[in-house]
Amino acid sequence: MKKVEGRYNRQEMLEGWNQEKLKQSTVLLAGVGALGSMVAVFLALVGVGKLILVDMDTIELSNLNRQLLFTESDIGKFKAKVAAEKLGEINPNVHVTARNESVISVPRKYYEQSDVIVDGLDSFEARRWLNSLCVSLNKPLVHGGMYGWYGNIQVIIPFVTPCLECQPLLPRERFQKSCTPPGKKREKVEVETPKFPAVSTITAVLSGIQAQDTLKILLNLSPLIDNYLFYDGMSQSFTTIKLERNPKCMICSDKYRLEGIEYAIDKQETIRELKDRLIATLGLSEPIRVIHKSKFIEDNTKIGEMELNSGELLFVYDKSLGKPLKLRAKIS
Ligand SMILES: [Zn+2]
Repeated sequence: MKKVEGRYNRQEMLEGWNQEKLKQSTVLLAGVGALGSMVAVFLALVGVGKLILVDMDTIELSNLNRQLLFTESDIGKFKAKVAAEKLGEINPNVHVTARNESVISVPRKYYEQSDVIVDGLDSFEARRWLNSLCVSLNKPLVHGGMYGWYGNIQVIIPFVTPCLECQPLLPRERFQKSCTPPGKKREKVEVETPKFPAVSTITAVLSGIQAQDTLKILLNLSPLIDNYLFYDGMSQSFTTIKLERNPKCMICSDKYRLEGIEYAIDKQETIRELKDRLIATLGLSEPIRVIHKSKFIEDNTKIGEMELNSGELLFVYDKSLGKPLKLRAKIS
């Protein structure tokens, strides 16, 4: 009689494989669109014990050219919820949690309990926020991005490899925004989510690599580090670029973590003007609040009016940062 093989028999033949380790692992998928939903499929197939799916979006007809987990009858439903149901059918041994909310509002405990976080996001701001959070929690982040026939992968092991802010490959949000003249009130502009060209075949290549690097981190099998991997689906080529950690990175450098960024501040400027300078010079997205000695400082306050001395710290909360920015004041 033919011996029945177990679900994981074939992968357990791989050198370095540890099925029990995968069963004990948790991966958070930040975004379950094209990349995230496919990475989730691969991780469910191999038997990663726990998957946490985070996505605030609902399924649209235009998603169906590249998102295998969703069908026309799912249109209008939450991506995370539907993906969780389908993944449960693909592998009932995997525990799947669906959070139908943005990556920013999901409780921190979900990130803290994860071994690896997978970036399947489509906005630069959310991506930078996630990078900052992963560094502050010391969690590996597997970043993936696509545009048309092209894609890129970067694995961030905090304080070991460069983070997304260490180098200029990540386009800064500020280049897409018009500047606000000093003193002018900022108006909130509703921006429609940009629409990018996207095709299932590129999604398949990129999500496969992202899932594979996630597995390698979980299994301690030397993931892609120090490198930025670029895939060109037209010429069918992979290019790796060696990246270095930036000793001045405001997210992950040791200097910054210990001392904060020294920043020249004029006595005559207001907090609002300081915020605008931070957007222009450090690429912040939208500073929400500035805290000095546990006190919130209003926008119209002049630096000279508050008791801020050189060498003291200001904490700036920004939409693109998962933890406040630490500024060491240099008053002039
Ligand atoms: Zn960095």
